[in-house]
Amino acid sequence: MVSDQVLTPLVPQPEGRALRAEVDLGRIQRNADRLKRASGGKGLWAVLKANAYGHGSLPVARALTGLVHGFAISSLEEAMELRDGGITAEILVLGGLRAEALPRASVLGLTVAIVGPESLDAYGRILPDHPVKLQLKVDTGMGRFGLLPSELSECLPTLRRLAPWIGGAMAHFATADDPDRGFADRQRATFEGSLQVLTDAGIQVTERHHGNSDALLRGLLAGDTHVRPGLALYGLTCVPEGRALGLEPALSLVAEVVRVKDVPAGTTVGYGRTFVAPHPLRIATLACGYADGYRRDLGNRAVVGHRGRTFPVVGRVSMDYLTVALPREVEVDPGDPMVLFSPEAEAPHSIERLALALGTIPYELTCGLHRRISRRYLS
Ligand SMILES: *Cc1c(COP(=O)(O)O)cnc(C)c1O
Repeated sequence: MVSDQVLTPLVPQPEGRALRAEVDLGRIQRNADRLKRASGGKGLWAVLKANAYGHGSLPVARALTGLVHGFAISSLEEAMELRDGGITAEILVLGGLRAEALPRASVLGLTVAIVGPESLDAYGRILPDHPVKLQLKVDTGMGRFGLLPSELSECLPTLRRLAPWIGGAMAHFATADDPDRGFADRQRATFEGSLQVLTDAGIQVTERHHGNSDALLRGLLAGDTHVRPGLALYGLTCVPEGRALGLEPALSLVAEVVRVKDVPAGTTVGYGRTFVAPHPLRIATLACGYADGYRRDLGNRAVVGHRGRTFPVVGRVSMDYLTVALPREVEVDPGDPMVLFSPEAEAPHSIERLALALGTIPYELTCGLHRRISRRYLS
């Protein structure tokens, strides 16, 4: 007989590990509202791929229900997570689906992007029995998903057969964050040209969009009916226009101190002995490491927040722990929370600042937060 013990599922205990991401859903709602206004009232496809950029797709979807047009994700699994969680709004699968997955998409009521010419014939055979809303993606310069303008012309006969299901057309900018708008303008022109080809072939789309957060913030949406912001919803941005709009970062990462020790001058800390205490110090060990998504190269480079002050992360970040140096006179006790990712955009340990220091983008830091981190939601 199997014992109860064995049958007990391994459910993460919210208070078990002294590390949590706090997500302020009110801030995400206000960001959505700001973005909607900045877009001139266009429909928002809130992009929730990669677990809502690490923020937790289901709680974010629930918070945004009624405020946005629908949700965009990249895989069938991500769509299922939302439907299983009771989300009934429109869900757009940005990365498309293989033809065999269409019956499932039909049952789930998904909207699927056509991302290439390869499965169009199969779509045509399956759709009459398993209706799915489609959006046609045009490759205007990302070189990834979508029909190239040349492929578009070749595929027109098949596309005409699929026309009853095609409700929208979309593209994606490659350089929306670039101060030089030259390539974005060419992409727009290619998109317009493709829409004209569709119209001339008798394929009418009511929805058209090709803007991500940066395109919205930088005013590249002319003619579009919808917009697809991801990063900016979470209050993060790589362009100055984002800060000017007053976007509020929604996520903070908080780790508890698990150990405090006083060390004499000359003590080395961590793997590789990359830090040597220049004078007597207090070392606090926090329950967060690179296995959680706190990047190893932040060691000796980042700071963390503690009661309104910041202190340096010293030594290498290890798998489950990192170490912080404080002056001896600073009071710190096991169980004290320290802020690793600050929700204040201007703080030296904000996600944007840390990403800059690492030579990466904020997306990589939030998406890298492991699912083992408990998420706490504030509204
Ligand atoms: C991820 C993604 C977006 C959102 O991009 P952000 O820069 O996070 O706003 C929009 N459209 C597509 C196709 C995407 O893959």
